[in-house]
Amino acid sequence: MVIGYTRLIPKGAGNKPPAGDATAGTHAAPQVRRGAPQGAGKQFSRHRIWEASLAALVTLGVLWVILYAQPAKVRHRHVLVISIDGMRSDTYLRPLPGLHIPNLLRLKQQGSFADGMIVVYPSLTYPSHTTMMTGKLPAQHGIYTNLSSRVPGKDAKDWFWFSHAIRCPTVWDVARRHGLTTASIGWPVTAGADINWDVPEIWNPAIGRVPEPMYVAKFMNPIFALQALGAVGLPKANEDDDDLRIALARYVIQEHQPNLMLIHLVDLDAMQHQYGPGSPQAVQVLNSEDHRIGEILAAYQKAGLGKNTDVFIVSDHGFVKVHRIILPNKLFVKAGLLSADAHGNITGGRIDTVSNDGSFFIYWPPHRHLGRAVYRAILPLLERHLVWAVLGRNALKALGADPNARLALDAPSGAMFDSSAKGPLVSSCPTKGSHGYLPFRPGLEASFIAWGPGIKSGVDLHLIRETSIASTILKALGIIDPKFGDTPPLQDIWKRPAARPHHPHA
Ligand SMILES: [Zn+2]
Repeated sequence: MVIGYTRLIPKGAGNKPPAGDATAGTHAAPQVRRGAPQGAGKQFSRHRIWEASLAALVTLGVLWVILYAQPAKVRHRHVLVISIDGMRSDTYLRPLPGLHIPNLLRLKQQGSFADGMIVVYPSLTYPSHTTMMTGKLPAQHGIYTNLSSRVPGKDAKDWFWFSHAIRCPTVWDVARRHGLTTASIGWPVTAGADINWDVPEIWNPAIGRVPEPMYVAKFMNPIFALQALGAVGLPKANEDDDDLRIALARYVIQEHQPNLMLIHLVDLDAMQHQYGPGSPQAVQVLNSEDHRIGEILAAYQKAGLGKNTDVFIVSDHGFVKVHRIILPNKLFVKAGLLSADAHGNITGGRIDTVSNDGSFFIYWPPHRHLGRAVYRAILPLLERHLVWAVLGRNALKALGADPNARLALDAPSGAMFDSSAKGPLVSSCPTKGSHGYLPFRPGLEASFIAWGPGIKSGVDLHLIRETSIASTILKALGIIDPKFGDTPPLQDIWKRPAARPHHPHA
């Protein structure tokens, strides 16, 4: 996939919007001068020019005030969102032996927290992070799974990296519209987004999901990419991905002081897939992530923002242990609904399938009437109890899941799916942890901690919905927009009175 710089550079990226827009206003005057009548006398012409210029400046000034000007207290608000990918909420509710997470526990004790956050279906990184930024479920925001293509052989390994796939307004869109500055380090689905300082999460699908900063830089604003590389230096070989993300975040906080800062840390997810949740390796990474949270909070103090920054620690899903792997595509190949090459890669067929680890989505065009054939094909899974739940279109609709999927299989406890068609239908699993299931099962609860000058201490929210995160972030920024997202901001966690709605129809 070749994508030119011009399409990827966010509008005004690297500039502070209010100043940039004010400058644009003064640049508009020569346009008016060029439009003055040609044959008029010098005095008259100057008078008309002066009048026209003044009118243009006043109009632009009024427009600027309407579009961007915010009360000073709103402009001075800052919100930090750190997503620890795959962090179960029991991490801070019932810390395991060996866990040393003083920062997380302090934020939880001094702030508000949830016993668990119920995420989206499938409980995957990209749909979930997008829900936290839009307040909408996947059916509405359009990031249905991690993979952006389900057509075999066509961009088969591409994920939803690009923000243009999001079909509704995001938190960063609304913040920018209110004249606030935004930054993102590794937050999913931000490549090409209208974010002032964005380091998107993206990798070369030909190589796989390995940190490759020079590849990522191709999808950044080139000036910001040069500045960031200059500040943190060229990454060393095998440099830890999260360490690099923290170094970039510290640079952006110090240099640009964005109103909204999004940080996505990924080491825990990788470790839990490999060794399982609760493993000594996962505990060790959690200790490191806690240390990194401390480093970011220190960066806010150093930048003089400690007193007006509200902090949200979230995650996109929990994790469960697995020991078996199931290959539904084997049955579809056997039934003639799919074809596969010698390596077990799907090459085509009458249906499409997407494995989400814990769940497995099946697609076919309605006019093909393949429902019976698909059910007949998966019968061995049902007979051998290799499926926990089969969800039809109505169930998927109620969950706000992919509207194109005709059927979804949810894996039984201790098992996960894979898209390969090579090997036994069920076998022991090379990885030890998984997610992607229906979000209600124990262990999949995601995390939520809120802390800061605007947040009350000691509030236990019990269970919350992921759709409430986006409006909650906006409220912390001083923005209440009743038309944004599906769920109002969380209640009872706020110290200050509610900000006045900015929406004209509120
Ligand atoms: Zn994740």
